[in-house]
Amino acid sequence: MTETIARSDAGPTGDIPTRRLFIAGEWVDTVSGRTFESRNPADSRDVVGHFQAGSAADVGMAVKAAEMAFPAWRATPAPKRGEILYRTGQLMAEHKERLARALTREMGKVIAEARGDVQEGIDIAFLMGGEGRRMFGDTVPSELPDKWAMSIRQPIGIAGIITPWNFPIAIPCWKMMPALVAGNTVVFKPASDTPHCATLLVELMAEAGFPPGTVNLVTGSGSDVGDPIVDSPDVAVISFTGHSANGKLIAARAGRRLKRLSLELGGKNAIAVLRDADLDLAVEGILWSAFGTTGQRCTACSRVVVEEPVVDALLTRLEARARALRIGDGQEEATEVGPLINEPAVEKVESYIEIGRAEAELVTGGRRATGEGLSDGHYFEPTIFTGVHPMDRIGQEEIFGPVLSVIPVADYEAAVTAVNQVRYGLSASIYTRDVNAAFRAMRDFETGIVYVNAGTTGAETHLPFGGWKETGNGHREAGHAALDTYTEWKSIYVDFSGRLQKAQIDNQPG
Ligand code: NAD
Repeated sequence: MTETIARSDAGPTGDIPTRRLFIAGEWVDTVSGRTFESRNPADSRDVVGHFQAGSAADVGMAVKAAEMAFPAWRATPAPKRGEILYRTGQLMAEHKERLARALTREMGKVIAEARGDVQEGIDIAFLMGGEGRRMFGDTVPSELPDKWAMSIRQPIGIAGIITPWNFPIAIPCWKMMPALVAGNTVVFKPASDTPHCATLLVELMAEAGFPPGTVNLVTGSGSDVGDPIVDSPDVAVISFTGHSANGKLIAARAGRRLKRLSLELGGKNAIAVLRDADLDLAVEGILWSAFGTTGQRCTACSRVVVEEPVVDALLTRLEARARALRIGDGQEEATEVGPLINEPAVEKVESYIEIGRAEAELVTGGRRATGEGLSDGHYFEPTIFTGVHPMDRIGQEEIFGPVLSVIPVADYEAAVTAVNQVRYGLSASIYTRDVNAAFRAMRDFETGIVYVNAGTTGAETHLPFGGWKETGNGHREAGHAALDTYTEWKSIYVDFSGRLQKAQIDNQPG
């Protein structure tokens, strides 16, 4: 019997719920009986819930359920599958505020951004719902008479979906919606910091009408749950978003089985500010990109590459605005910078502050944020370094916190070199009023996403999303490109000539 999880979120003083795995349409306990906690990063005394610490045995059952569900789901007409995605999008829209509040409580991003995170999930549900009626292949003329040629997409099988905590509703939707509309079934492992968001999402998906076994949720650690998903011979495709180092480990494991693998990994995104830029506009974009989500977006701007004549003018404005940002619990509408995800994240940022002090000049920030209401959260001051050399560690390595490096450069060519001189390639932006410089940057930046006169964040769901170089392995999420991860192409030739026709031979001279 399917058990419905209570929809109310217990507060700090309320009962702390224990959530379950979702396998074959049922909410079940893990085989091991072990659980783990999820806590509110804004107030670590607040336990969001207890969650099942899944294991290889649970993954095995989830994979079995997904395997059993696959034939019927694959045979369901794609427009019908799309209708269930639409229903999911509608339910998410009805529950948007509840989801956003739960997201802020568990992950910490400010409530306006949490609503945006949920909205991304809704948008992709509707976009991919529509793919149920598109999923275009090609129908092309044959080179031979009385013969037709066409291509169709077909599902691969079971998709293993492994997600990070920083977009805990949007990213699972970016992965699961295309997988499902294409006819695959899913085993979903969310990050251990955000199992509640995943539970709420899967609860709505079950309510929307996904048949038992099409969507399975197994919470737990990367080693106990993630690895068995990657290693399972029955999971045909893996989509992973997370750290580049983990992506490489997963790629090695998946490679042994020649598994389809989509990786979305780290970033070190830059905004270039040319001397003719509208500096006030640039400051807005830089602040939003660097300190929004407390610098924990994969598309966060962590480097500003600025032409020397305007460094001082830009820095003066940036420093004043960064100091004035309101730090606090993201549940307050006025909060601009929420907490980091957990204590290790704070310690990691602190370690980079030490590195930065040795490499460059600290302009503002650099400490844990203190003050009323902040003592039990993982808060850190918005931090700016200047005089950073492009090859400095703080200019090269992903810190994933509110730390911005200002890199002065002589001219446009030096700016492009600096923007590109990292091993990542997700997003980049340029502020300039020179249309020629803007077009050069669109051509020259080695990133999957380029913005002109806007920050490095703000991707829309109907264009491909992903990065070059070590940000990924060439796949894309969102847009119709997302379907490439979850489908096999099949080319079909229909010969109605009634005789043997030989391509490349019968119709060629000699
Ligand atoms: P992470 O790599 O620590 O974890 C991501 C997920 O993988 C989690 O569910 C984790 O439990 C699991 N995992 C970890 N090791 C695993 C293993 N060996 N086998 C299987 N599963 C494993 O990343 P995170 O801290 O959750 O997320 C932050 C990172 O994600 C940053 O590097 C950020 O840039 C990146 N990110 C990239 C994008 C993108 O689209 N490029 C988007 C968001 C986040």
